[in-house]
Amino acid sequence: MSEPKVVCIVGVAGFIGSHLLEKIIREQEWTVIGCDMVPPTKIQQLLGAEKKWASRFEFHQMNITEDVEKLEELIRKSDTVINLAAICNPSEYIKQPVNTINSNFTDAQDCIKFCVKYNKHLVHFSTCEVYGRTLSSYGLPASDPQNYILDEETTPMIMGPVSAQRWCYACAKQLVERLIFAHGTENNLKFTIVRPYNWIGPRMDYVPGVDGKDDGQPRVLASFMTALMKGEPLVLVNGGQVYRTFCFVEDACEAVVKIIEKPEKSVGHAFNIGNPENNIQVQALANLMIDMYAKITGKPKGTTKDISGEEYYGKGYEDSDLRIPSMRLVRKQLDWEPKTSLKDAMEMTMKVFIEKYADKLAGLKRVSDAD
Ligand code: NAD
Ligand code: UDP
Repeated sequence: MSEPKVVCIVGVAGFIGSHLLEKIIREQEWTVIGCDMVPPTKIQQLLGAEKKWASRFEFHQMNITEDVEKLEELIRKSDTVINLAAICNPSEYIKQPVNTINSNFTDAQDCIKFCVKYNKHLVHFSTCEVYGRTLSSYGLPASDPQNYILDEETTPMIMGPVSAQRWCYACAKQLVERLIFAHGTENNLKFTIVRPYNWIGPRMDYVPGVDGKDDGQPRVLASFMTALMKGEPLVLVNGGQVYRTFCFVEDACEAVVKIIEKPEKSVGHAFNIGNPENNIQVQALANLMIDMYAKITGKPKGTTKDISGEEYYGKGYEDSDLRIPSMRLVRKQLDWEPKTSLKDAMEMTMKVFIEKYADKLAGLKRVSDAD
């Protein structure tokens, strides 16, 4: 256990925020000041039932773009600021590109400004998408790892055309990374940038119609879980031919704790946080989840159906290609390795989803069947 610290988590009620909060409160003696614009449903278990931690956690429901004075006060009281707040769902990049750019770039400015002003360590959440299209997508041999293994210090960042709106998110994240780096150079900002590679786990996103809008499109894990629990086909965008490397959120949060704990090792760096061992084609992920759901519940195996990216997300959707995180820097600086296999991560995650949602979805289905 390390020295007591005060950690401000902006976006604490989201998926990653809820896991980071839990890990810090359980394993460290640090105090957490959390804020989010949504109600604290995903962190209820820490706010309510386990009152022994109440003295080490406070929650403020607020929009950081509206309550700037409050944000300044929270940052002033903290040692480290973790900024997770952002629109980060691909279906939103197409539907609301202006908000996506503002949320990921403009709205991150105050956190940066106050960390400069009060000399705080800023841990800013970016994305592996800042690398954009990989060299292998431009015809360089896919057999050469140089063309798809992404290294923080050497790999170029190549965005798609402006009309492919998927990249507005990646581009906004890239620009904010460059701004943070610039403040490091000009104003001595102590910063660390985190580039997550598809972290997954319990509490990720929502289930449309239960705790999200009826026509919402959550990210792939929650989308496949919703289909499985409703007994509907899993939708494979463009046949599910692309690859993703999935990292269990609890492994990933261990890296974030090391970043907070050891600023002498983490400040000034951008880190890939992912699990290169868990690289899988989306179609194979669907089959893995179909098999596991049948094994856990004893129900018949589900099916899949193909849909085009444009039909599913809208005009301007472009997918990202094979991208594997280089572990060179994160091993050297943080001595961190992810441990959990995709199968184990999925099994733990799916059981939590089933426990939380299966009854509610069965109820919903019975009502709609009766219509
Ligand atoms: P999430 O949507 O679950 O959490 C983000 C939280 O920020 C939400 O609770 C939201 O209400 C809050 N928020 C957004 N705007 C806000 C505002 N103006 N004021 C107050 N709160 C606000 O997303 P997540 O998966 O936890 O991701 C967190 C961060 O990590 C994001 O910056 C995202 O871009 C980055 N990221 C995540 C992944 C992943 O695998 N989950 C991958 C790449 C990047
Ligand atoms: N995807 C899919 N079916 C779904 C949801 C997503 O095939 O119901 C695909 C999506 O097109 C992408 C991958 O799964 O290729 C991962 O999508 P996600 O939204 O989780 O995040 P991304 O990595 O694209 O940001």
